[in-house]
Amino acid sequence: MPCSATLAQLVEVLLARPVNLYETGLTQVSRGIQTDTRILKPGEVFLALRGDKFDGHQFVATAIAKGAIAAIVDLAYENPGFPVLQVKDTLKAYQKIARWWRDRFDIPVIGVTGSVGKTTTKELIAAVLGTKGALHKTYGNYNNEIGVPKTLLELDTEHNYAVVEMAMRGRGQIAELTQIARPTIGVITNVGTAHIELLGSEEAIAEAKCELLAEMPADSVAILNYDNPLLMTTAAKVWTGEVITYGFSGGDIPGLLIDNETVEVAGMQLPLPLPGRHNATNFLAALAVAKVLGIDWASLQAGVAVDMPTGRSQRFNLPNDVVILDETYNAAPEAMLAALQLLADTPGKRKIAVLGAMKELGERSQQLHQRVGETVRNLNLDGLLVLVDGEDAEAIAKSAKGIPSECFATHGELVARLKTFVQAGDRLLFKAAHSVGLDRVVNQLRAEY
Ligand code: ATP
Ligand code: MG
Repeated sequence: MPCSATLAQLVEVLLARPVNLYETGLTQVSRGIQTDTRILKPGEVFLALRGDKFDGHQFVATAIAKGAIAAIVDLAYENPGFPVLQVKDTLKAYQKIARWWRDRFDIPVIGVTGSVGKTTTKELIAAVLGTKGALHKTYGNYNNEIGVPKTLLELDTEHNYAVVEMAMRGRGQIAELTQIARPTIGVITNVGTAHIELLGSEEAIAEAKCELLAEMPADSVAILNYDNPLLMTTAAKVWTGEVITYGFSGGDIPGLLIDNETVEVAGMQLPLPLPGRHNATNFLAALAVAKVLGIDWASLQAGVAVDMPTGRSQRFNLPNDVVILDETYNAAPEAMLAALQLLADTPGKRKIAVLGAMKELGERSQQLHQRVGETVRNLNLDGLLVLVDGEDAEAIAKSAKGIPSECFATHGELVARLKTFVQAGDRLLFKAAHSVGLDRVVNQLRAEY
């Protein structure tokens, strides 16, 4: 059962001020900690979080009506006879309970961070470990100061492994998440330029990712991408514990990419659960985790099924041998280049990139967009269609000199053009920042083509 605690235990963990908590109340046992009254089940404890749009404190009465046994609040709240635990800060309380609950499980907990590839690597690790035992993992992309506690609070006695994705937008955040999750294995996929607007430099980003190592228990194992020199040097400054490295340029687990679908490691050829060089790197990280946990790679030769959330490494087959590579979930600069490489390496007649702007790149934005255009040119793609919402997106088209390019101002115009543009045998990559909304273009094209 997820987070089962007596109210007395919660009072103690949180140093909460108990209201209406008499003898009978203290021995009541929670069936979970719930922050959302829409899905609250009887027997759960309601914890009131404050978001941008809503304040959970407005829903305590709803929680009571739906069968909550108590509420955790940081405002004074009185309801005759209803047990309330009053704390200073409910978000901190949520995190404290999560850490307390996590500490009751003596199982491998794998923390995954990095600039790109966290969700993919988490899913690959889950796919590999899932062949050996019951696995708990971050649902979707719940990877922040709320998502990580939420994930941990759903740990259950039946689980043999947990894989937890951890994201940051600034300094100190990974440290905080690591103190809550206390990973026994910490994976850093890479250090890139995502969120550079907030952190200023790649060095600062590397330091922020390496907070995972600095904060995890000393007997944990670090799993690091050897192909990323800045990650390797930064990690060495903060971590003296066990390290296993993986990569294509060397490391403890050196991989060799045979083709888009196959990787060779330690003389063994393994089918890639997801295509492309970048996903092969992510898979090497999963193999490293397997190695630490004593899982034989030979058992993976038959392949493993991965359960990817939408918009990442998704492939749709349209009539007339037209294939869509849907990477519309988001676009960090490194992810953009990796996806273009995947398009170039995908067998097919014409290779067409349908792109939009990347976001949150600050001063380096123009330059990073130019690099995308140059890559389109260097890969000699057969066409480029750009949804333009400002100078950045325009820079992609301008720097792809020599490649037939077209720009569009609206989603509608782009969809209309795609319907006449697409030919049999085409391979189309769709990628841009999430806010550009290329997922809508993909959906419309799939429905109408
Ligand atoms: P977020 O910060 O949004 O949670 P994430 O780190 O979880 O992102 P994923 O969702 O796994 O990243 O992948 C996002 C995109 O990044 C993928 O669609 C793919 O194009 C690209 N990508 C995945 N792994 C790598 C990698 N190792 N190197 C470069 N690009 C990658
Ligand atoms: Mg993610």
